[in-house]
Amino acid sequence: MSHDEEQWGPATRAVRAGQVRTSEGEHAEPIFPTSSFAFKSAAEAAARFSGESPGNIYSRFTNPTVRTFEQRLAALEGGERCVAFASGMAAILAICLGLLRSGDHIVASRSIFGTTVMLFQNYLARFGVETSFVPLTAYDAWERAVRPNTRLFFVETPSNPLTEVADIARLAKLAHAHKALLAVDNCFCTPALQLPIPLGADLVIHSATKYLDGQGRCVGGAVVGSETLVGKEIFGVLRTAGPSMSPFNAWVFLKGLETLPLRMKAHSENALELALWLERQPRVKRVYFPGLASHPQHALARRQQTGFGGIVSFEVEGGKDGAWRLIDSTRLISITANLGDTKTTITHPATTTHGRLTPEQRAEAGISDGLVRVSVGLEDVEDLQRDLARGLG
Ligand SMILES: *Cc1c(COP(=O)(O)O)cnc(C)c1O
Repeated sequence: MSHDEEQWGPATRAVRAGQVRTSEGEHAEPIFPTSSFAFKSAAEAAARFSGESPGNIYSRFTNPTVRTFEQRLAALEGGERCVAFASGMAAILAICLGLLRSGDHIVASRSIFGTTVMLFQNYLARFGVETSFVPLTAYDAWERAVRPNTRLFFVETPSNPLTEVADIARLAKLAHAHKALLAVDNCFCTPALQLPIPLGADLVIHSATKYLDGQGRCVGGAVVGSETLVGKEIFGVLRTAGPSMSPFNAWVFLKGLETLPLRMKAHSENALELALWLERQPRVKRVYFPGLASHPQHALARRQQTGFGGIVSFEVEGGKDGAWRLIDSTRLISITANLGDTKTTITHPATTTHGRLTPEQRAEAGISDGLVRVSVGLEDVEDLQRDLARGLG
């Protein structure tokens, strides 16, 4: 980054960071749909491959459109380096492959994305990496779970679907006191609302599929952190294992980043309005949203985030039947497990995103059968209320 760029505010970074104009003078960022790059000479090819001179080689690990997305996201997160991946799960796998070895141990919040739990439990365990799951906000439990071989703390805040909020600075201190790294999945807030790296996190993970795209078009992921961890170890995984982001998807995501601060503000406002309305509905037993005064970590969310995000979960009367009846009575809201879209989506976590957990694991994580998760989009809130009111009557 130039000196000028370092002074840019977040909205300017979202629109401008990472763009390098070509000799054609294009205003919008170009897409480079090429698998490889041509060299001027054998000597230049050799210098690129040896790493002696920087530059494009092959799109598995060097592509200008992907690089623009990476640099823009790194600038927004306040990290030295970003590496993009084919999906959020590929980004999480790359952290594990790049930073862990057989015999290492992870301490993870039990309230992380269901597929991440599966990755740790069913796959990493086969390669000798064990994971201890602890309640997100029980800091003494995090400390007790640490072993001499603990290498990674893994947390998602706010959590999915209950929107519990963890104190990132506190977890970073705890991890570092035990010579472990802290990875934060910043999916729900995005850098527009929360910056884990200045709070002490070593790695930030994204499912770009969600708010970074923001319009439900592409699947992608990214890791942000230091030049040493991300630029060397995690980039090495991308280069040799190849879970790469396509240039087209990178272009969609980097254009998505341009409106990210505006969208996150609007998502947060709509979600707060809907959450307040849900709290007043007699057939709603409990509403989970960090922006509500009733939320257990409301004060922490105010301190740590600049907005409360767009995810609202709530428990309806009647268990699974009540939840399914509500979901099936919607006409506007989309029934889909995806989140972070301009279109509002509704899902039943117990039978979808968290369906592969055992009933005991679900109960421990607080995912009841009557729980419904709404990812509040950018429609008129009154239309969303009318759509939900039909099933809550
Ligand atoms: C969706 C999601 C992921 C996984 O990302 P994909 O792009 O679907 O692979 C990881 N973490 C969280 C919090 C998510 O919501």
